[in-house]
Amino acid sequence: MLDLTYDAPAPKVIAGATGDWELVIGLEVHAQVATNAKLFSGASTLFGAEPNSNVAFVDAGMPGMLPVINEECVAQAVRTGLGLRAQINLVSAFDRKNYFYPDLPQGYQISQLYHPIVGEGEVLVEMGNGLARLVRIERIHLEQDAGKSIHDMDPAMSFVDLNRTGVALMEIVSRPDIRGPEEAAAYVLKLRQIMRYLGTCDGNMQNGNLRADVNVSVCRPGDYERYQATQDFSHLGTRCEIKNMNSMRFIQMAIDYEARRQIALLEDGKSVTQETRLYDPDRNETRSMRSKEEAHDYRYFPDPDLLPLEIEQAWVDDIAAKLPELPDAKKARFIADFGLSEYDASVLTAEEENASFFEKVAEGRDGKLAANWVINELFGRLKKDDRDIASSPISAERLGQIIGLIKSDTISGKIAKDVFDIAYTQNRDPEEIVETEGMKQVTDTGAIEAAVDAIIAANPDQVAKAQANPKLAGWFVGQVMKATGGKANPAAVNQIVSARLGL
Ligand code: ADP
Ligand code: MG
Repeated sequence: MLDLTYDAPAPKVIAGATGDWELVIGLEVHAQVATNAKLFSGASTLFGAEPNSNVAFVDAGMPGMLPVINEECVAQAVRTGLGLRAQINLVSAFDRKNYFYPDLPQGYQISQLYHPIVGEGEVLVEMGNGLARLVRIERIHLEQDAGKSIHDMDPAMSFVDLNRTGVALMEIVSRPDIRGPEEAAAYVLKLRQIMRYLGTCDGNMQNGNLRADVNVSVCRPGDYERYQATQDFSHLGTRCEIKNMNSMRFIQMAIDYEARRQIALLEDGKSVTQETRLYDPDRNETRSMRSKEEAHDYRYFPDPDLLPLEIEQAWVDDIAAKLPELPDAKKARFIADFGLSEYDASVLTAEEENASFFEKVAEGRDGKLAANWVINELFGRLKKDDRDIASSPISAERLGQIIGLIKSDTISGKIAKDVFDIAYTQNRDPEEIVETEGMKQVTDTGAIEAAVDAIIAANPDQVAKAQANPKLAGWFVGQVMKATGGKANPAAVNQIVSARLGL
């Protein structure tokens, strides 16, 4: 397991008129499986294609068409389960969830209610300052996405685009272990990070490839601990489910609004009705959408067109053996091997591409110095230029060279920033820049002594002042740095100035 120890963060507490309330949150995250083809058809999953161009007959619900499971979608669900340290079920099964909607031509969604492919797992959600929540995963099941109804293209008509119909989703269901709005957002971000490392979901929330149904309830202090001790849900409050959230900010705002709404009801002597609600970001409020439906409302039954899904342990083991190093492990390793702070290690491992760039910079060099340069100089500059690491104008090798030049005292940290700027903007080699532009640090004490002597000789007044007040010696250091174009080794200058002034 992990090398790091964390304390659990305190739950979010909202003070009401009748005392304190705590938040309890459970998320159902829908992650679009990263594959080229749909869950039960060969149609493409490409985003942004011409409407209704990626639709196989089976997706359109044509009579007599039969679904055929896409093996890669199953492998992606298994990978995701392994990444969440979850149990993989060698036998799972597909059910029909029956309902009518214009963008659901089959008249049912194929899902896994009774026998999901992935069982219980866990996700560590770091909250900074050595705090982290261990969120339990209840299950992950595979299911089909629905199509898209478009109501805003024509004043009189609605349109239906079936490109998304039948695309594979993983529904990741958490236990109600999340205790505040920030934790909920951090949990979604952590799932996204793990799936991006695994390559099982691209995590693009804007395109709707990652979205969450957020279940919120409130309870009194102590009730949640009673629930944890017994797993008896009756200790918790009635929840409402806020559907289809695809923004971290709105997830947090919706939870906060919803918790306060429930508290107001309860303090007013009313009760919370279990229901599905929608968040309206323009008015920052949630509104009732429909009452909570139960499994029997959907007349779930095993899909007669699909056999139970059986996979072999050896196949799962093979997938497990090929998993990449995941964020928790990478972060622990960066802290142990490079001596990084938890914060720096988190920043550098947020995206796999950033982590591997950093490792190339740091290899065989000072890890902390490399982390500073990657985070502060490079990431700062890329952000300013609206670029990502893949299009960085300076390569890891070149940034590594700069670290090497600083470490060997060839250039000072200050000059290194100029070298970085030239390398970044002019696509040049740092060693060549230092050579060509004459930027090497002057460590030759003879040359520094000569510069110090010249300035002392020319400024007798300043000498007297500095000798009376040693703090003023800094003026000489500044003059020498100026005279040498910033290239003198600052430590050597300090030492020689003090010696020459007899301080
Ligand atoms: P259903 O099948 O009715 O949707 P689930 O048991 O699957 O109900 O729960 C759905 C989600 O709601 C899960 O993520 C779960 O953690 C969460 N949840 C259950 N009870 C509560 C509660 N009292 N407060 C907040 N979230 C809850
Ligand atoms: Mg559910």
